[in-house]
Amino acid sequence: MPDFTRRGAARHMLISDGIRASAGRTPDKVAMRESGRSLSYARLVDRIARVANLVHAGLGLRHGERAAVFSANCLEYMEIVCGMAEAGVAAATIGPAAAPPEIRFIVEDSGARVMFVSAALEEVARAAAPSVERFIVIGPAYEALLAEASAGPCPVEVTEHDIFSVPYTSGATGRPKGVQLSHRGRVLSGYAMAAEHGCYTPQDRAVATTPMFHGAGFLMALTPIWFGGQVEILPRFDIDSLMGTITSFQATSAYIVPAHFAALFALPEQKRAQWDMRSMKAAISGTAPLPQATKERIVAYFGEGKLFERYGTTETSIATSLGPRDQLRKQACVGLPYPATQVRICDGDGNEVALGEVGELWVSSPYMFSGYLNLPEATAAGTRGDWFVTGDLARQDEEGFVYLVDRKNDMVISGGENIYPREVEEVILAHPAAAECGVTGAPHPYFGEAVTAFVVLRPGMHVDAATLTSLCREKLSRYKVPKEIRFVESLPRNSMGKVLRRELRARLIAESKA
Ligand code: AMP
Repeated sequence: MPDFTRRGAARHMLISDGIRASAGRTPDKVAMRESGRSLSYARLVDRIARVANLVHAGLGLRHGERAAVFSANCLEYMEIVCGMAEAGVAAATIGPAAAPPEIRFIVEDSGARVMFVSAALEEVARAAAPSVERFIVIGPAYEALLAEASAGPCPVEVTEHDIFSVPYTSGATGRPKGVQLSHRGRVLSGYAMAAEHGCYTPQDRAVATTPMFHGAGFLMALTPIWFGGQVEILPRFDIDSLMGTITSFQATSAYIVPAHFAALFALPEQKRAQWDMRSMKAAISGTAPLPQATKERIVAYFGEGKLFERYGTTETSIATSLGPRDQLRKQACVGLPYPATQVRICDGDGNEVALGEVGELWVSSPYMFSGYLNLPEATAAGTRGDWFVTGDLARQDEEGFVYLVDRKNDMVISGGENIYPREVEEVILAHPAAAECGVTGAPHPYFGEAVTAFVVLRPGMHVDAATLTSLCREKLSRYKVPKEIRFVESLPRNSMGKVLRRELRARLIAESKA
């Protein structure tokens, strides 16, 4: 009888254990697909074990160390991270679009002596990270090492409290911070996801397109196969392949971030009509605000009962979720706390504000991070005991639903009034010609900051600034109405598709100095 179980204490749960359990039940079933390649559960577990032994015996990496992974999404990503984790080595993951100074920073901060790198990024990696002693290039060289490595148990005792990966936060201010994620936190997040969304059973199929170097991107690729389903990994986002894959794979779930939805609804209707969303049980959004106008379009296109919106941070994992039932009932809302999650809304002194008032959102749950790597002071500054202080401003209603007002740092202060960019963006995005919008403050000699909106128009549609301004005047207090509306081709976004308002603000500051 083939044995896919891991040696070691079963009372600890490691991130690969679900994949191993699924292999025991359905060894020949395809677990993962990518660009026409696929891996059965039995082969995936075999390769995870080989990576673990390669890392431990072949490369001599020790429990508690880190190695870097620098690649776009690919079939090998999962086995590399899971294999390293079974050897007690955490993956310091680097986004494929990282610039050389970021690559070098992550390598040096994590102390990675070894880097797993895709062939396309090898040259960049070698130039950027001279301290790496060994580059393992995914492709023939990596395959040769796997073929030589043992597929037997890896003789390292790993516990669920060990760190399996260290994604780096984008570092809105200052240096990027390595967020230490434990096996236990991630596995429990996966269970909570399965309970919440109902789309992770052996009969389910998911499409994973967000980058796996990011905490959420990895979880969205892992959870479907933790529970014995199938996942199709897309190496990079493009709307045609995402929607085409959902249709042909008859996917039951996909993680579709607001930037993806914006791309979908910028397309002409007859193009959208070629795709079939009937197989979908859950279209899951997260990582950035989902405008109410977009939610309504999603419900109309995907059908009722399918849209989930989640809120969380790399540090907290998923913290709240708004289910299909409440999508249109609760406007601009991120839902109720996830199972086993507690939230508080506090003032600057850490006292809870009165119900309905805006304050800073604190989160506590079993899914939380285990501190920032090498940064005890930043960990202490970002936490209060078991609570993580998110930097997001929020309020709660009498039913306990959480409304995300905005990032504390993105607030615009104009004429002494606090303005939350999201509120202004929501109004502009309700106009059918507005595809994307980012609001920030421009330096202003009298007001301090002047509300400024950057707008991307839907192809083939037009609206002028005066019309959008009068729409804002109708819906918003005077001081919130943009002093300037600019039409642009695109908005600056990070690799998860989040609009970088700070870049818009930096642009305006630079202009004011010119
Ligand atoms: P990251 O750590 O990169 O995942 O970024 C976390 C931040 O993304 C949060 O602090 C929020 O500002 C933002 N975010 C995540 N989910 C949502 C959401 N559903 N709506 C609005 N903002 C979100």
